[in-house]
Amino acid sequence: MNGPKLRVLQIDLTERRVGVLPADGLEHYLGGIGLAAKLFAGLVDVQAAPLDAHQPVVLAGGALAAFFPMCTKGVAVFRSPLTGGWGESYAGMRLALALRLAGWDAIVITGRADRPVYLSIGPHGVRFKSAAALWGLDCEEAGRLLRQLEPGRGFRSCLRIGPAGEKGVAFASVNVDTYRHFGRLGLGAVLGAKNLKAIVIYGDRDYPVPQPKQYREIYDQIYRQAVRTDVMEKYHALGTSVNVSVLSELGALPTRNLQQSTFEAAERISGRAFAEGSLVRKVACAGCPVGCIHIGLRRRQFAPGYEYESVALSYDHELIYALGSLLGMSSPEKVYDLIEAVELYGLDAISAGVLLAWLTEAQQNGLLREEDLGCWLEFDRVEGYLKVLENLVEQPSELYALLAQGLARAVERLGGKEYALCLGGHEMAGYHTGPANLLGLAVGARHSHLDNAGYAIDQKASKNGWDSARMVHEIMAEEKWRNVLNCLCICLFAREVYTPAVVQKALAAVGIERTGEELMALGEEIFQLKNRLRSQLGYSSERLYFAPRYFATPALGRQIDPAQLQEMLELYRQQAGV
Ligand code: SF4
Repeated sequence: MNGPKLRVLQIDLTERRVGVLPADGLEHYLGGIGLAAKLFAGLVDVQAAPLDAHQPVVLAGGALAAFFPMCTKGVAVFRSPLTGGWGESYAGMRLALALRLAGWDAIVITGRADRPVYLSIGPHGVRFKSAAALWGLDCEEAGRLLRQLEPGRGFRSCLRIGPAGEKGVAFASVNVDTYRHFGRLGLGAVLGAKNLKAIVIYGDRDYPVPQPKQYREIYDQIYRQAVRTDVMEKYHALGTSVNVSVLSELGALPTRNLQQSTFEAAERISGRAFAEGSLVRKVACAGCPVGCIHIGLRRRQFAPGYEYESVALSYDHELIYALGSLLGMSSPEKVYDLIEAVELYGLDAISAGVLLAWLTEAQQNGLLREEDLGCWLEFDRVEGYLKVLENLVEQPSELYALLAQGLARAVERLGGKEYALCLGGHEMAGYHTGPANLLGLAVGARHSHLDNAGYAIDQKASKNGWDSARMVHEIMAEEKWRNVLNCLCICLFAREVYTPAVVQKALAAVGIERTGEELMALGEEIFQLKNRLRSQLGYSSERLYFAPRYFATPALGRQIDPAQLQEMLELYRQQAGV
């Protein structure tokens, strides 16, 4: 926290007014998701649509940001235009650092600007600046210009949307400092509806550490764990893309719209293939000694003769899954071409990939014709997919306007629900491991694999013979503890470093005393708070639908039993009260 009192900046785009929002009593939440959820609860209009001007967006950092390694994330809370419900997303790079240096624990943005603007938030206060020259630009170009226009180099964070956010694509993302994103659930469309192209945050504050000796000791312990043990080694080495071939071997890699869970070309698009063929550097969020962000170089010929260009793109498991195996892509070059398009438009990669995979099968099944989409889609062929991505943003027809609202809405009107990889209105992440994964995605607060790691619980269950009750217990316990980590905005890759004991010591070193019981109670409180908010926004676990495709394709080598999943859902409902 930025002192004994929380500091919350309020910005009203309609009135172009700035203030400090009272946040007395919210110190209890330590920042992050707890603080953001409480602020959001007080401002959201549950009767109004997600893109209504009055709906708030809350950005927040955590109490340990910039003090300790890997406390690097910023959280965004908003009403999701994709699901209509709770929107929660995290992004790294320099956002948490910039919020700390600017002296804000959270920023609340409401209203809609009468013309495109961007916000410059710094030691001078807040400036509303014209984004007329930025509107229509892709994320890369907008970022390049903002870096030239704004001061604070090295200490600033630059959030911007691409054309997808401007055009209201329900799964538009927000680019954060080029290599990280508020990816899922459509924050890009929310900012676009507010006529807000970008937010640049920077500052120059410094902070005394109240317990320097204690601080040094726990800092060193965390640092050593991160760099001198193997706890985080996989993230630095091949990165999360190491999972591609591992999951395929296990029979858990969604492939060709989950018609298969093993991919015969997995080795060709594996983390090793990307690293050996194109990796040029690894970068890190500010304050992280791990550096898991892998940057590859896509070199291509754009005209006959010796006419080449190259572009640097980050890749990871989720990207290689959604724009790779799920679309049957057999080479890194093909995956890179799709990553580049998604990055420039400012789309969520997972939602885009799952939609493309469904469209491919829908055409093969005769649900959509070539003339409907303006192209013919085939797995392992990039051209049609690039055309569809372009049209999702341009929306030249009613069909594309519908598709731009996301897969769940599209199948309600078009059919093909039985092979649509949605859970809770959100497109599936890159694991097909079993019932805990499906349940975890369906009931998790943001329908993400990062809510409760159901995919890992499936793997432990299969090794240890856990029954349904044990799996449900693990899903709930994991989500509650992650709420605590997400109050502090700790990178979840570092969750094995930040045990409850380490979190307690780190907090104490910056002057915040919490017992283990108090931390656990905080996780529980936020779990309940989010569930209440989700219910108010329309979520009900009774309306969940699990497509037959999930049960037809083996997960970890065996079929998922629909009866077991239903049993787990009932147990979850009884215990979580949603
Ligand atoms: S491990 Fe990766 S995502 Fe996490 S803080 Fe470090 S660089 Fe960022």
